[in-house]
Amino acid sequence: MASNPRALPTATAVGAPAVVLSSAAVVPASASAALDELLQGNRRYATGRPRRGRAAAPHPFAVVLGCVDSEAAPELVFDQGLGDLLCIRTAGQVLDEAVLGSLQYGVQELRVPLVVVLGHEGCGAVAATLARLRTGAPVPGHLELLAAEIAPAALRTRALPGDWAEHTMRAQTVWARDAIRADSGFAGASVVAARFDAGSGLVSLLP
Ligand SMILES: [Zn+2]
Repeated sequence: MASNPRALPTATAVGAPAVVLSSAAVVPASASAALDELLQGNRRYATGRPRRGRAAAPHPFAVVLGCVDSEAAPELVFDQGLGDLLCIRTAGQVLDEAVLGSLQYGVQELRVPLVVVLGHEGCGAVAATLARLRTGAPVPGHLELLAAEIAPAALRTRALPGDWAEHTMRAQTVWARDAIRADSGFAGASVVAARFDAGSGLVSLLP
């Protein structure tokens, strides 16, 4: 995967100091305000004008479950600073009890109003799962768990026309969103699914 040239724009490139401590002390208090802040931050990121550098304040206003693939780092993608997001990352956004417990910590203990499940195009875990299904070759070690968890989304979308990897990523991300929504441990939180495109830098919400 080619690196995203927008990921680390220099101060010269954006015509502003690379690190600016924000005066925005207001933490979004509702799910809709939190989502607005994330999407506004993503537009800054995608257009090469990230703010970042917000003074660290441990008041996360969104929980993000994203993938481990390095280009999909939520703090960068949403242009947020330390303390703004509670991030949990597993390959392919795979859920397990530790992940659910960590998500629930954010929602129940820290009273974070918004959970974002963030998939991305070109996902390595999805590619490995599709290779496993195509060839039947076993996946080594602990990776087998990831392939087994992503395989249902791949099998549900195998007959669709177009890009199987894209269909699988979307189905896996939406499935994780729906599983979290259906869990009583997350009652009261808004849970959305989204897709990050490393090429454009843009995040879009998934239906
Ligand atoms: Zn990935």
